Amino acid sequence: IPHEFEAIVVGGGPAGLSAAYTLAKGGVKTLLIERGDFPGSKNVMGGVLYSYPTAQVFPDFWKKAPLERPIIEQRAYLLAEDSAITAGFKDNRFFEEPYNNFTVFRGRFDKWMAGEAMEAGALLVSETVVTDLLYEGEGTGKKVVGVITNREEGTVRGHVVLLCEGANSILAQRAGLQEDLSPGDLACAVKEVIKLPKGAIEERFNVEKGQGVTIELLGEATLGMFGMGWIYTNKDTLSVGVGVMINELSRRGLNPNTVLEKMKNHPALRPLLVEGETVEYLAKIIPEGGYKQVPKLYSNGVLVCGDTAMLVNGVHREGSNLAMTSGKMAAETVIEAKAKGDFSAEALKRYKERLEDSFVLKDLKKYQNVSGLMQTNPHFFTVYPNMARQAAQELFTVNNVPKKEKQKKIIRDIRKKRSLTQIAGDLYRIWRTFG
Ligand code: FAD
Repeated sequence: IPHEFEAIVVGGGPAGLSAAYTLAKGGVKTLLIERGDFPGSKNVMGGVLYSYPTAQVFPDFWKKAPLERPIIEQRAYLLAEDSAITAGFKDNRFFEEPYNNFTVFRGRFDKWMAGEAMEAGALLVSETVVTDLLYEGEGTGKKVVGVITNREEGTVRGHVVLLCEGANSILAQRAGLQEDLSPGDLACAVKEVIKLPKGAIEERFNVEKGQGVTIELLGEATLGMFGMGWIYTNKDTLSVGVGVMINELSRRGLNPNTVLEKMKNHPALRPLLVEGETVEYLAKIIPEGGYKQVPKLYSNGVLVCGDTAMLVNGVHREGSNLAMTSGKMAAETVIEAKAKGDFSAEALKRYKERLEDSFVLKDLKKYQNVSGLMQTNPHFFTVYPNMARQAAQELFTVNNVPKKEKQKKIIRDIRKKRSLTQIAGDLYRIWRTFG
């Protein structure tokens, strides 16, 4: 590795690759360091990739990138023990350019982004772990001037380092930018890739050839814990997974694999998976701490992006787009800093301002109390799904009971589980948190 660069990007995920590509295109001498065999080899997501933010970094990417299916329908299932209340939105216009979103495999998609970054001029060094940052100076003058890697003579100097190391933010914590994370800030997710017989996806999900569907799963999917399950359609496989907060798993003494196995056996989902063959099993953590846990985003000679910066919007299942947008904004800030020859915290604070002016921090701020609300109200994931199931069952059962009596029974049953004052309180808290 040459020992001197203008920018060093740590981590080849969506944040680091968007940053490296934008930097290299902007004429910045860039080194990208990835610990895996290649960018993507260690990376996991559900995974839905959003068209608009991706095209802002890689225009017309759908013409060349390895993608699975454009998603034309998004469904949500509220599961109770053996029933499901379902909702969804389908629009064939999402099957046309510029599309809305795609399912992808990160192993292939990240590798493709890395190829684009290298073609633009970035140098990629894989199978190399950054073990620490290199510093110079003391007190307020202390600045990051490069990285130390696990390679022999592996110290590399750079004017600025972009920390894009993902959710396991060891370097950011060691640099004092991020506090230690607690199990209430992280979800643990497991995912299976399940191969289906030819034509099964179109048949079972009621779509035309090549079209894709996503299903988000709530309630019993997580055995009543704060989290979410999902089924996404790929070319000839399904991505089936579940993510639950680590503190909830530990409180219940449960392993995420057990939660996933139970979810796959739910009667509303089982028919979608029959004759499926598991071809891959993956696990990863998701940073769910939200706005309040966003670390210090910049300091002298260093910027923090993507999952390392806690930029995940769990409510809308968004992470890759926040990672890519933050990587791009960090790179644009570095390009300006290079023009001024100033990589101090004062010059790099433009990065935080950019994030604040964009959907990235605006959305995180909007949902800053969601995690707290959900963690302190576990009945949202148990009592309400069951209430909804009981009400729907009563309503849809034809048994000669007059509808007026059915309505009264539904209200009586609801009040047995939760008083009207409690329900009003819950609705008020939900409105305050999401409104
Ligand atoms: P990562 O993708 O984690 O990349 C970090 C990279 O840094 C990795 O390549 C890693 O190997 C490398 N690295 C780490 N430490 C070092 C080191 N010290 N030295 C060198 N290299 C290092 N988002 C969506 O938009 N849609 C979804 O459907 C979705 N589903 C998800 C499902 C799951 C199960 C999970 C876990 C996440 C999901 N997300 C989803 C979130 C999304 O995956 C992340 O927000 C996104 O990947 C963050 O990108 P990143 O570049 O910040 O981090």
